[in-house]
Amino acid sequence: MLTDYHVHLRPDEADATPERHFTPGNAERYRTVAEEHGVSELGVAEHVYRFTAALDVWQHPLWRGFARDDLDAYCEFVREETDLRLGIEADFIPGREDKMANLLEGRPWDFVVGSVHFLQEVSLDTEDFSIWRTGVSAERVWRRYFETIAESARCGLYDVIAHPDLVKVWGDRAPKPDGDLRRYYEPAVEAFAESGVAVELSTAGLRKPVSELYPSDALLAMVADAGCPIALSSDAHTTEQLAYRYEDALEALDRAGVREIAVFENRERRMEPIG
Ligand SMILES: [Zn+2]
Ligand SMILES: [Zn+2]
Repeated sequence: MLTDYHVHLRPDEADATPERHFTPGNAERYRTVAEEHGVSELGVAEHVYRFTAALDVWQHPLWRGFARDDLDAYCEFVREETDLRLGIEADFIPGREDKMANLLEGRPWDFVVGSVHFLQEVSLDTEDFSIWRTGVSAERVWRRYFETIAESARCGLYDVIAHPDLVKVWGDRAPKPDGDLRRYYEPAVEAFAESGVAVELSTAGLRKPVSELYPSDALLAMVADAGCPIALSSDAHTTEQLAYRYEDALEALDRAGVREIAVFENRERRMEPIG
């Protein structure tokens, strides 16, 4: 089996409306293209900050600029008008776990993807609010990033931890610590293993400045050695990005000795052979 769970039905622009993108026709287009790539398990995981309910969790200016849509209408659309698995990409905001739990509670998710896009008020992956303009050292950014990823795994809100080394997204355009990076990965891998959460292998990094899979080979090897389940996704925002360069992902999984991937339904996980 091949999966693509961490998928967005629209680009990240604020004017990409539900009226245009949350339609049975668009879902069907995604389904058709996924099938062409051999992906039978297709889910969607819209960014939580696109929904007005997210402002009960966090009031960051970036979120205030995007939070327009109704969360229940999204759930109802995916459940009633598509055959896709229902997920959400719910940022981990330290200290706001109870508020995020309230948002997630009582909604019919197949899976919940946890992401770390911010450290406090500054962003790891957007030019606006960029952490790399604060003058904080690469060592400190990387250490805090992986500590936060570890916390996100331990908080118990998530089925999958997304793009687990997103901190590298800018590649050579941002500072990076020297030497063997496994010292940064260690606390995160320990948290993944202890919490039993699945870790995402995402091909999205291949279309970002870093031009690498998330996670790196070294981190994937550590995750695999620790026995963590792997969830395979592209983080597509268009049909062109669905299952993007999955051949690279499958080679990486093979190198790491991973033979099964995680499949989700009603927040229950099972493992299926890859392919
Ligand atoms: Zn993300
Ligand atoms: Zn995403």
